[in-house]
Amino acid sequence: MKNFDINNIRADFPLLKREVNGKPLVYLDNGATTQKPQVVIDALVNYYTDMNANVHRGVHYLSQISTDAFEVTRQKVQSFINAEHDYEIIITKGTTDSINLVAQCFGQAFIDKDDEIIISAMEHHSNIVPWQMLCDAKGAVLKVIPMNDHGDLDMEAYKALLSAKTKIVSVTYVSNSLGTINPIEEIIALAHSNNTPVLVDAAQAVQHIALDVQKLDADFLVFSGHKMYAPTGVGVLYGKEKWLNAMPPYQGGGDMIKDVTFEKTTYNELPFKFEAGTPNIEAGICLAHAIDYINEIGLDAIQKYEDDLLAYATAEILKIEGVRIIGTANKKSSVLSFIVDGIHPYDIGVILDKLGIAVRTGHHCAQPVMAQFEIPGTVRASLAMYNTKEDIDTFIKGLQRAVTMLK
Ligand code: PLP
Repeated sequence: MKNFDINNIRADFPLLKREVNGKPLVYLDNGATTQKPQVVIDALVNYYTDMNANVHRGVHYLSQISTDAFEVTRQKVQSFINAEHDYEIIITKGTTDSINLVAQCFGQAFIDKDDEIIISAMEHHSNIVPWQMLCDAKGAVLKVIPMNDHGDLDMEAYKALLSAKTKIVSVTYVSNSLGTINPIEEIIALAHSNNTPVLVDAAQAVQHIALDVQKLDADFLVFSGHKMYAPTGVGVLYGKEKWLNAMPPYQGGGDMIKDVTFEKTTYNELPFKFEAGTPNIEAGICLAHAIDYINEIGLDAIQKYEDDLLAYATAEILKIEGVRIIGTANKKSSVLSFIVDGIHPYDIGVILDKLGIAVRTGHHCAQPVMAQFEIPGTVRASLAMYNTKEDIDTFIKGLQRAVTMLK
């Protein structure tokens, strides 16, 4: 492994040292958001201590250095996901913002009445609702790729859904509620053989799996900074140049224009056409530092480490009577979702919290998934590179205690 030293990694994350409810914190809610390494926190403080100024607009020194630092992020993201051009990287507020951008702008240009949009049965609400809103506005139809009870997509059903009416496919790479890693290359190849572009929701993939948008041949790919060790309020939309150029702008305002008169406005070129208004500059700058941090350790090493940890956690949890794992796909990443017979997930979450163990309980913004499994929600432990076997042992011990108390 490149630089994978778990003790060094843990030492880089100051929040992991704190106690919660008098116990050392065990943070297993990384699918919701990750903790931040000191280099990212330092970059945030440094921005306000040393360079705060608006970007893309000033000739003065501070504006230039903050613009340069912000634009470094675009280049880092470009090489991180291997995009062909830096102007194919649009800096957004996050995954949700990126998907809404595509739904609205692609929708305006390419979706008409009775057209079809394909998503999957395991999408986060962020990859359902924007498309429903578009369908409502345009009279288009939302189609859903079904999944089986392991959480694997039914690829035959997907093939059958693709038709001349299909205008876009929008699917998650990794499910936040089940952990399934979808066969995204095959999903894209099949869509392309139908002349249909694909949006990949990489919110739960980008921090675990090395991405190459050219190799995947993704038309759009989106993710959030805060789930990959950067601050909240920043995210990415990658789009192929040909699609971004063919789409109208998202929001109107500063930065996205070339010329404005009261009679007519002409729009800026990529990427600025899609970046109206002052961005979250400090978070944007910090995203570059988070990418450097991940690269330093290496995503292959991170993935291997997290896979081993997930396998260990899965084996351990199955020793507890009454546990049922929700999401048992062949290929999984970093998510252990489960229920315990006769116990509400919320009650388990409350007891684990008392023990300093942070997990997520509820529907994980994936209510249709919960409906398919006929459950109100799950308990979800989601892993990051800084979690350890000791974290898992503490969690399993806490869970055993919770189960004994609540049975
Ligand atoms: N898509 C997936 C798969 C997610 O897991 C999430 C967040 O949990 C989102 C989209 C939305 O991300 P954000 O809230 O950062 O916009």
